[in-house]
Amino acid sequence: MLALRDNHTLAQITAWVRTAVQNCREQILLSPEAFDAAPTRWIIDRVLSESKADDGQRLQPVINATGVILHTNLGRSPMSDPAIAAADRASRYTNVELNLVSGRRSKRGERLMTLLAQLTGAEDALVVNNCAAATVLVLQAIAAGREVIVSRGQLVEIGGGFRLPDVFRAAGVTLREVGTTNRTYLQDYEAAVNDQTGAVIRVHRSNFHLSGFVTEPTIDELVQMERPDSVAVIDDLGSGSMVDLTPYGLQEPNVLDSIRSGADLSLFSGDKLFGGPQAGILVGKKPWIEKLRRSPIMRAMRVDKLTLAALEATTEIHLSGNALTELPTLRMITTPDETVRQRCESLLLRINPSDSVEVVSCESQVGGGSIPGSSLPSHALRITGYPPHHLAHHMRSGPVAIQTRVSDEAVMIDLRTVAEQELTELANGINSAIRDTPALANRETAPE
Ligand SMILES: *Cc1c(COP(=O)(O)O)cnc(C)c1O
Repeated sequence: MLALRDNHTLAQITAWVRTAVQNCREQILLSPEAFDAAPTRWIIDRVLSESKADDGQRLQPVINATGVILHTNLGRSPMSDPAIAAADRASRYTNVELNLVSGRRSKRGERLMTLLAQLTGAEDALVVNNCAAATVLVLQAIAAGREVIVSRGQLVEIGGGFRLPDVFRAAGVTLREVGTTNRTYLQDYEAAVNDQTGAVIRVHRSNFHLSGFVTEPTIDELVQMERPDSVAVIDDLGSGSMVDLTPYGLQEPNVLDSIRSGADLSLFSGDKLFGGPQAGILVGKKPWIEKLRRSPIMRAMRVDKLTLAALEATTEIHLSGNALTELPTLRMITTPDETVRQRCESLLLRINPSDSVEVVSCESQVGGGSIPGSSLPSHALRITGYPPHHLAHHMRSGPVAIQTRVSDEAVMIDLRTVAEQELTELANGINSAIRDTPALANRETAPE
């Protein structure tokens, strides 16, 4: 119990003990003959297991050896050092609504909005809590009580139950579906525009692919479409790539292209390919952004000073032109496979015993609702000879948490998502997990 007190509050432990005592009583009353444990031992075991479950949920650093770059369970985009430092500096008192030169009150995030407009070529910008909030805000502020036209091929569900038709309903907008699952033409949109239309929205399919006979108008065509000025064209990009990632084999709609096409509003996440903190970024035409800014629900969606600071630093990195090397997310995407392989070789030298560990080629995923189906060539350490789930459990629950991938009866340590400076901790973690896991009795992979 004394060790428990190091990591848990007395209130937590008391609650676990009370529940365990209660459960123990119920069990004994239910079937005294089936309860063959010593009650005290039974209660202690329950409490220890509760405390372990609690440890597993306490937020802590995790080494991501899954090879999934935007891993939703691991907080999607890791932040760059400058963004971390900026959030740290802003954690105490900070001039979030004060211009230190004039001494006057300033608008929250004004500098960031200017930087975002510069970066994307848009007239104005706005930041909210996440891209889901951006979607709700746009629909509500621009088209509540009216119709918004969307292709049947884009009525998506983003992870975690964010379903577009439900979001429309919640925002008080009438969904006007056009086209079919695989084919929607510009004429379908044109035919649907009437005096009730508030907007046309294009939604990036993000987490799935359509292939075969597929047609849909480009954002340029939607912008060019015949429509009243009061009908906004909204582009929900989701991942919001700022840089062309096609040389790395990835096809994602580009924010700059979206703005260049003349879309009235383009929305994207701050913590997908933008590589910053969780946020929803809206860029576009000034009158539309102003309308959003004045919406009564804007206040409920605004971000805190930590997000503002981290996003400002991230945006400055994009503006500096060094995003591919300075933002961890983009660095991991663009790291050559050969560099990952060398990283694996150097890690292998530190693994002990290494007879059931080998360097293999594998595929990493971008993940996080980005770029479905496309993967990046990568390398991993493949550990056999131990029950893989048992070994993976030891890695997760060691002093430094390591999340791995179990595949084909082996634990895979994909180093595309591991930084050089994490290798020492990773090696120590693997070594102690191997030490703690009994080897499989019938080793198929006998040493050569
Ligand atoms: C990911 C995504 C969202 C939701 O973004 P969050 O930042 O997770 O809230 C909305 N729309 C599209 C197209 C997306 O890909």
